[in-house]
Amino acid sequence: GVVVGKRVKSRRKWKRVMGVLRELEEGCETTVGRLKQVVDAMAVEMHAGLASEGGSKLKMLLTFVDNLPSGSEKGTYYALDLGGTNFRVLRVLLGGQGSSILAKDVERQPIPPHLMCGTSEDLFDFMASSVKEFVEKEGNDSESSVVKKKELGFTFSFPVRQTSVLSGILIKWTKGFAIEEMVEKEVAQYLQEALIRKGLDMRVAVLAYFSLLIYSEQVNDTVGTLALGHYHDEDTVAAVIIGTGSNACYVERTDAIIKCQGLLTTSGGMVVNMEWGNFWSSHLPRTSYDIDLDADSPNPYDMGFEKMISGMYLGDIVRRVILKMSQESDIFGPDSSRLSVPFILRTPLMAAMHEDDSPELTVVAGILREVLEISDVPLKVRKLVVKICDVVTRRAARLAAAGIVGILKKIGRDGSGGITSGRTRSDVKMRRTVVAIEGGLYTNYTMFREYLHEALTEILGEEIAQHVILKETEDGSGIGAAILAASYSSSNSVDTD
Ligand code: BGC
Ligand code: MG
Repeated sequence: GVVVGKRVKSRRKWKRVMGVLRELEEGCETTVGRLKQVVDAMAVEMHAGLASEGGSKLKMLLTFVDNLPSGSEKGTYYALDLGGTNFRVLRVLLGGQGSSILAKDVERQPIPPHLMCGTSEDLFDFMASSVKEFVEKEGNDSESSVVKKKELGFTFSFPVRQTSVLSGILIKWTKGFAIEEMVEKEVAQYLQEALIRKGLDMRVAVLAYFSLLIYSEQVNDTVGTLALGHYHDEDTVAAVIIGTGSNACYVERTDAIIKCQGLLTTSGGMVVNMEWGNFWSSHLPRTSYDIDLDADSPNPYDMGFEKMISGMYLGDIVRRVILKMSQESDIFGPDSSRLSVPFILRTPLMAAMHEDDSPELTVVAGILREVLEISDVPLKVRKLVVKICDVVTRRAARLAAAGIVGILKKIGRDGSGGITSGRTRSDVKMRRTVVAIEGGLYTNYTMFREYLHEALTEILGEEIAQHVILKETEDGSGIGAAILAASYSSSNSVDTD
């Protein structure tokens, strides 16, 4: 009696768990048909965001970057890159021809989490200190400590309403940052003041360090990435970041930017920062976990697309599914209070579990034990965890692919242009189209990357997909900003074209 009762109980419990899994899979479904609806929605929202201010959840922000680097920029330039997780200081030596980067020096530091929701002063002092260290180190081992101006680009990976290529106003924070006093304020100002406090601003630096730092231009990380992509390959038309957060930018014709009449640039185009993290469409496959995650986040009803696809959130979706299963059954053993801690299961850990290829899934066992304090679960349960990671990552990667195709559609590079003009698809010669891409999720998570590529081909069809090249640009957001500083600097200004 007891044994039979146990078996019946165990069967019921697995039935419940499988029910939770099935519901998750259904909720995360991304058939090609659905992805194509997302593609269309993205293109439609892009139009709407360009038509009028507030016309869409896509902000479609002007960047005032109207010329992308050509590969002939020359000299030493600097960049500061404030991302979602790291802060980088970079120095880049550009060769002046053939897209050469003769030397680069990148110093990376994780941003201490308490600075993300502290005061502006603390955050910018942290940045200025690390700039100072970088500059001082340079002074010791080279002859560059003579009076010399240093031009730098500042990559600020948050939504900014630019007023020129030099400055702009923070619209809102994302990715867990929350320093309220800075919202609606000029970002460059904070950097400038912190540099002054550290004795690094030009006005005081002559006395202190014999070096001048000139704050040059400010860009979103996507724009930096596009700049580096274009520096190396002139067919680069868009850039995508899939890291802690997610976003994209691309080159738009100025006459298509209807909300800004009379915008004139020499190139006839301008880089538009889409802020696609805030994209929303009823076609997006949304689950109860997404709804709960959003409600518990510091920015509810905001950044809906980002919350489904970027590194800050994927691990937490997985945690929520495991929590649900542990509430429905005891397959994860006695209740672990760790399972209720938001963001405790970080996405790199999720990736490690997903890609565990040991037969006994020892990596999964280790992470469950160390991070979630769940011990001794059978192989069957460990396999279930891998499956959850797979479902969540696959959806994310496929949605990101749909987003990319949405951009291609908007700029007529998705291969569909020929049909309306009466020709057949194969008559139309598809131009080589390069999309620069970076971010830790894309770079470090192989399964994510493979799912994204697979979906891109599924949506576009093999013939068209051949012409679309995703190019990884390492440290692109920072290096690209330095290169933009070069192409916008007076010493590199081109008078003929
Ligand atoms: C920000 C974007 C940024 C992206 C990638 C998002 O949360 O809103 O400005 O480009 O993260 O870093
Ligand atoms: Mg970054």
